[in-house]
Amino acid sequence: MSAEARFSYCLDYLPWRRRVDPLADKYPGWSPYNYTLNNPLSFVDLKGDSVTTVELTNGQTIVVDKKIEESVKELDEWAKENNIPMVINDDFRTTKEQKEIKAKYGDKAAEPRTSRHESGFALDVQTIKWTKNQKAKFEKKANSLNIYPNEVKKEPWHYQTEPLEHGYKSRGAVINENQKHYSELLKAKQKDN
Ligand SMILES: [Zn+2]
Repeated sequence: MSAEARFSYCLDYLPWRRRVDPLADKYPGWSPYNYTLNNPLSFVDLKGDSVTTVELTNGQTIVVDKKIEESVKELDEWAKENNIPMVINDDFRTTKEQKEIKAKYGDKAAEPRTSRHESGFALDVQTIKWTKNQKAKFEKKANSLNIYPNEVKKEPWHYQTEPLEHGYKSRGAVINENQKHYSELLKAKQKDN
């Protein structure tokens, strides 16, 4: 089994929103469709910059920083049109989740409070089933949207953007902000149900 496959399998335990379609039935309350239907103001109530949910064309719901929402949607729609399945293995992470991953993977994982996943600026894409050509095409499109592979670590599935290019003052500040916004998003959701 490749490192990527192992990593993907290990992430299976992670919460509802990382899963693809089948589990949507298990957590009907957290369908973004129902959520918006029940309380259309919930999302806009979160002021300023924040994390937000994005529903992909494959039915997956992921969480990213609002500033890259449109780029992620465009990438997803482009991938669908080009027959490149864009399945997300991991998106936003709480610092607690990052700590668990660090404990499990050691040097292979980013230190808690430094990962782009903790600010909603990174996506782990299921690239393992792609051909080289599909990966090259996907990367070209992603690059045009300022979404890049991680050049430092050997993680062929990891794509990220730079928060500093989106108006944030520091990487630490955006992590603090978005960790807070994410818990607000969860609280708002729990109140609704
Ligand atoms: Zn990653």
